[in-house]
Amino acid sequence: MTGMTRVTGVFGYPVSHSQSPSMQNAAFRALGLDCVYVPFGVHPDDLERAVQGIRALGIVGINLTIPHKERVIDMLDWVSEDARRIRSVNTIHNCDGVLKGYSTDGAGFIRALESCGKAASGARAVVIGAGGSSRATVHALVAGGAKVALVNRTLDRAVELAATVNGSFGDSVVCPIGLDDPAAERAVKEADLLVNCTPVGMHPKPDAQPIPSDWLHSGLFVYDQIYNPVESQLLRAARAVGADGANGIKMLVFQGALSFEIWTGRTPPVDIMESAVMQG
Ligand code: NAP
Repeated sequence: MTGMTRVTGVFGYPVSHSQSPSMQNAAFRALGLDCVYVPFGVHPDDLERAVQGIRALGIVGINLTIPHKERVIDMLDWVSEDARRIRSVNTIHNCDGVLKGYSTDGAGFIRALESCGKAASGARAVVIGAGGSSRATVHALVAGGAKVALVNRTLDRAVELAATVNGSFGDSVVCPIGLDDPAAERAVKEADLLVNCTPVGMHPKPDAQPIPSDWLHSGLFVYDQIYNPVESQLLRAARAVGADGANGIKMLVFQGALSFEIWTGRTPPVDIMESAVMQG
């Protein structure tokens, strides 16, 4: 590092588990860029001061992870329409002191899907979960031309998210369903794409599964946004019935690759970023 090195990083709490430093630093090295990516543990009470610090320290770009993605919105000078719509910013770009906010989660998910040979257009999708990642995923799927059955444990949250998306797109393309409603099983059986946006099955409870195995069928493509473990119980159950699927690593990589592109204006070395994540 020199006095010319450009600093980027991630604000999270906790942040020690983040895969982004190894992924982004590998990308900077591969392109010979004099940049560094640093994990910053920022307590929620300190978020505003940390954001002011981006300007004060001349930090070029910052990712936001749990629990900062929503609150940071009011601290920025400009926020993209996508990020505003899903009330989530995961990328800040410091443009000569003007802090601009973006969300790359939805586009990262769509690129991950496309890299598996699947598209949102025309898909009959079931999304499980109605939290932060689901907001980005459902908006991106609908913007890409999918119809979505939105299945969630807490029906009210699914109803609220469906109303927001349907309001934005002026159509009833998202149908909210409670996880314990028989309509949830029917929706999965009629779907060609299933996306898990819950942490069910994630380390340290890898044996859990968000829906029963007997809802799955060979006509489904299952995208599980979980990436730890690499093969979740849901993906194993899908494989057992002849369904294809993928874990959340590609989404992680593509959302990071899009942040990289915003900060550097360069084409991200996606394969190198993915290898860095795989190596942990
Ligand atoms: P979140 O905002 O906390 O939302 C979690 C959702 O899961 C909620 O809708 C919640 O339902 C549901 N849920 C939680 N526990 C459940 C259970 N035991 N049974 C049924 N439903 C349950 O979380 P998030 O930020 O959206 O993240 C969700 C998952 O996606 C996490 O595993 C995260 O690691 C992963 N993710 C991956 C990527 C990637 O790049 N691959 C990016 C973002 C997130 P209620 O509404 O009923 O509480």
